[in-house]
Amino acid sequence: MITVDTTTTTLAIGSECTACGACVLTCPTHALLPAPGRPSLVESRCILCLECVEICPRGVISELAREL
Ligand code: SF4
Ligand code: SF4
Repeated sequence: MITVDTTTTTLAIGSECTACGACVLTCPTHALLPAPGRPSLVESRCILCLECVEICPRGVISELAREL
């Protein structure tokens, strides 16, 4: 499993999201919640395993550097 430092990195979900729900279903920590338009991320639950990034059929989830 790939892991990324959660203190410096978070996720961004692009506007091309079709709200298919694949990422919501695959997230092992339930950090992605269904929401209108695109899922919302509960950052405190996200372990940055990047499974959602890999499964997204649109390729719209990406790593985003936090502003420190
Ligand atoms: S898997 Fe991708 S397209 Fe589907 S809901 Fe998640 S971000 Fe949107
Ligand atoms: S990176 Fe992993 S823990 Fe974070 S939202 Fe995606 S699947 Fe869930």
